[in-house]
Amino acid sequence: MAKTKQFKTESKKLLHLMTHSIYTQKEIFLRELISNASDAIDKRHFLSLTDTSIPAETYEIWITPDEVNNTLIITDNGIGFTEEELINNLGTIAESGSKSFLEKMDEKNLDLIGQFGVGFYSAFMVADEVTVETRSPYASTGYKWTSNGETSYTIDEIEKETLGTTITLNLRQDDEENEETFSTYTKPYTLRSLVKKYSDYVRYPINMMVTNKKDEKESQEVETLNQMVPIWKRSKADIKDEDMNAFYKHQFGDYEDPLKVIHTSVEGMLTYTALLFIPKKAPYDFYSEKYEKGLQLYSKGVFIQDKNKDLFPDYFKFVKGLVDSADISLNISREVLQQNHQVKKIAAHLEKKIKSELESMLLHEKETYLTFYENYKNTLKYGIYESFGLNKEKLQDLILFKTNKSDDYLTLKEYIERKQIDQHAIYYATGKSKQSILNLPQMDIMKDKDLEVLLFTDEIDEFMIQVMQSYNEVPFKSIQQADTDLMDETKKEDLKSKEKDNKDIMKAIKKALKDKVKDVKLSYRLKESAVCLVSGEGISMEMEKVLKQMPNAKDIHADKILEINPDHELFQALKVIYEKDEKKINEYASILYHQALLIEGLPIEDPTEFSNHLVKLMIDSSK
Ligand code: ADP
Repeated sequence: MAKTKQFKTESKKLLHLMTHSIYTQKEIFLRELISNASDAIDKRHFLSLTDTSIPAETYEIWITPDEVNNTLIITDNGIGFTEEELINNLGTIAESGSKSFLEKMDEKNLDLIGQFGVGFYSAFMVADEVTVETRSPYASTGYKWTSNGETSYTIDEIEKETLGTTITLNLRQDDEENEETFSTYTKPYTLRSLVKKYSDYVRYPINMMVTNKKDEKESQEVETLNQMVPIWKRSKADIKDEDMNAFYKHQFGDYEDPLKVIHTSVEGMLTYTALLFIPKKAPYDFYSEKYEKGLQLYSKGVFIQDKNKDLFPDYFKFVKGLVDSADISLNISREVLQQNHQVKKIAAHLEKKIKSELESMLLHEKETYLTFYENYKNTLKYGIYESFGLNKEKLQDLILFKTNKSDDYLTLKEYIERKQIDQHAIYYATGKSKQSILNLPQMDIMKDKDLEVLLFTDEIDEFMIQVMQSYNEVPFKSIQQADTDLMDETKKEDLKSKEKDNKDIMKAIKKALKDKVKDVKLSYRLKESAVCLVSGEGISMEMEKVLKQMPNAKDIHADKILEINPDHELFQALKVIYEKDEKKINEYASILYHQALLIEGLPIEDPTEFSNHLVKLMIDSSK
């Protein structure tokens, strides 16, 4: 006699969510059922080792689609259910995965279903009736459990000879809201691809009978849909590069081989295998907000999550790959995962591993590192910049710069090693390109003193350096700032006396430019050039440029200081003009200032004024 029983309250809630689900990835039900089947086989296998009354078997999972009846049958020869187990396991929710799923869920955020091990009930997303026929070695008869997933289920005794469970899903026809035809789950190609996607690495064969047509003749054949041994579980020596590359391309949707493969296994207190890849080229959306970092997460070969973001820090977000750990249970919610101890430990390992692999690449495979660096340098630099430099120590030896003396990239360590003995700063200059920096008037003195200057051509560079401040206690110093330490005592004296001699004209120039610059100074650092602009404390002119491009840019200004070369012919000319006609100095000062802006690659604030002054100057010189 069939007994009808009520689901427990929580089960009803979960079932209600499942049966009314508008979640689009209903396909995960197959993953859940196959994973249950695999667990049930695990249990039987384990028990058979000690309990001789339980026969061992050739363990298999079968999926049998039936297009005509619109059903899908999943069969395993695992441990099966006793009657009590049917009531306890399928009538109530005891599992923490489903429980926390319920706590977090409502109809609005159903898209999280895929992240949870929601288990058996997910079958009701695609089926309007589910029948479980089962036989446990601990029961004297078989049982049949049936439900439409609403409020109750029935249990009946049945004859069943073989141990294990057969689950029949009476598939829903069409979902009107979604215009989705669930009978897609009776199509061999759908099932094939779902097994490949979610359950490829289940340890037991997942078989399906397929009909082959050859020369008008039909024949039935068993097809095993899963590979069973994940590539990352094979011994490294057995994996050919081409297999690994093919796996990467298929799994992570790249059309090129990876630049670097990191395959690592850890056993002990924490057990996991990680297979990490660095793509040769940054994905097209890598630098956009759309890009999602993350690793696929598996638990003993069963796929749990597509992009787990907690397994490595943002500054390594270019890494793709997967982690398979027996320490992570399949039925774990995303929220729980985030706080999961094991995940945190794995993440700490992986961070170290990625870092050391990059360091060794830099040391031993420079060419490969350069390709890597060209693609991802901004990510590393941003990593130093963000969190107020918290990660500076970890990343500073991975960044490279070109210099005025080197077309090859240099590490900061290399710069320090070859700097002059009495040099107490790491000099840098910022500009659009290498050439524009080399042309800077401020480079004159650096060339003169044979000093090496890091060339900053990425927008992030100066921001990063502001946060870093120093490398191994050697401070960074911009050659485009007012205060450099390049002047020796005799120079200082010399400059002082020149300032004294030219007090009046300097005052006049300052007055003429009082709205434009913070100060006007005589300079010791210029040789060929007549003038240059430098910035004072705080943000530099290059940073001003970057900040101005930002959306909602505030009116940000770098303090500008105009430096004039007292030994340049032009300054002598200015003096002559000043003596002849004091007022003329206003126009000349303005031209000088605009010219300095141009040299710095800054926009001319008032092109008309600048042009008028030039025109006037030309006319005057003809008189
Ligand atoms: P979970 O797998 O997260 O525990 P499910 O709702 O999927 O939750 O399943 C509940 C329980 O039912 C399982 O823990 C397991 O004990 C039992 N079960 C599910 N499927 C099978 C099966 N194919 N064979 C034997 N037992 C099963």
